[in-house]
Amino acid sequence: MTEPTPAVRAHVGTLRPEDLPAYCYDLAALRDHAAHVRAALPDRVELYYAAKANPEPEILAALRPYVHGYEVSSGGELTHVRKAVPGLPLAFGGPGKTPAELAGALTAGVERFHVESLHELHLLGHLAARHAPGHRVAVLPRVNLPVDDGSLDGVPLAMGGRPAPFGLDPADADEAVRLLADDTYPQLELRGVHAHLASGLAASELLTVAGAVITWATALAARHGVPLPEVVVGGGMAVDYTDPAARFDWTAYGAGLARLTAAHPGLTLRIEPGRALTAYCGWYVTEVLDVKRSHGEEFAVVRGGTHHLRTPATKGHDQPCTVLPTGTPWPHPWPRPAANGDRVTLTGQLCTPKDLLARHVPAAGLRAGDRVAFGMAGAYAWNISHHDFLMHPRPGFHFLGTPEGG
Ligand SMILES: *Cc1c(COP(=O)(O)O)cnc(C)c1O
Repeated sequence: MTEPTPAVRAHVGTLRPEDLPAYCYDLAALRDHAAHVRAALPDRVELYYAAKANPEPEILAALRPYVHGYEVSSGGELTHVRKAVPGLPLAFGGPGKTPAELAGALTAGVERFHVESLHELHLLGHLAARHAPGHRVAVLPRVNLPVDDGSLDGVPLAMGGRPAPFGLDPADADEAVRLLADDTYPQLELRGVHAHLASGLAASELLTVAGAVITWATALAARHGVPLPEVVVGGGMAVDYTDPAARFDWTAYGAGLARLTAAHPGLTLRIEPGRALTAYCGWYVTEVLDVKRSHGEEFAVVRGGTHHLRTPATKGHDQPCTVLPTGTPWPHPWPRPAANGDRVTLTGQLCTPKDLLARHVPAAGLRAGDRVAFGMAGAYAWNISHHDFLMHPRPGFHFLGTPEGG
């Protein structure tokens, strides 16, 4: 369902045209969803939220009771998340960490470092002596594993299993473990192995990947005779924009993870979902400015566009949406623009044919002044958009319910 929740619908009714477009987040719905995810996870599986999916402080705070920590991918995210949700553990990942970012993370006492290359490992060890003297620094090399044994045909392993700038090549993993196990950098400690290989996978596919990662990581540790307390199996839980009702099966995923932990006593697993946690809690709400026919097709131009909600442009999908007709009378003496057919393509205000929010939407009778709520806009939406292109005003932001609930 991408229908706006009753709370969002009621709130939109209070907004004036000049308050639009607006992002409306239902924090109570987010908390319910996060509670469901957390309840599905067995013991010895930790849940970290990948902050890059949506780092709004209210979102981070609403998730706080349900997560064990947060995964941050830059020095900027690190500072921001520490401030928004102080006291919870952070894992610092992402390619191309600068010396200044690593030094800042060491000074901030970040709980875990996901190291992406041998160079980065050396740099971290070198900086630790100066910026965190006397402290143990927990390191999890991120490895780009070849997990595709044929059982994952057609699955988009976008982040790994093939040439990619992410993580260490498996051929470099032994060198990384050697550097962590010997006395080269006495402060650094091998805490585990990290892999985030795919995105958009169903529970069964993601479990196949997780099993392969664990098998590979335990063999690596055994080869070096070192303990392996943790394995991170990444995020990437599927969010289907073409079928909003089809949700990732957290119950099946949790049951599968329980089988994996049972087979590896003493091992803690960590998952770090982003999109599948927050996508469903946000709506981008706007109004129809104009409706017109062009060479046989009908278009509605809405206030705002992909400079606020870039998700459909980057993913190449039609953003699921709901029309909210308004009873407001037309204030002008000329005819009110309205759709004649039953399919309308919704576009924004940008002077580019790429500003497509949703194509051929069933929206018979759509009129200027009607409102449209684009759903599944709670992740990789506002924060990945090119806000300043064309210099239109920014949307409003409305967080419904309190982050703490109640
Ligand atoms: C982006 C990212 C995630 C989250 O991915 P989703 O597809 O949003 O679940 C997790 N781990 C790493 C390392 C990432 O880069």
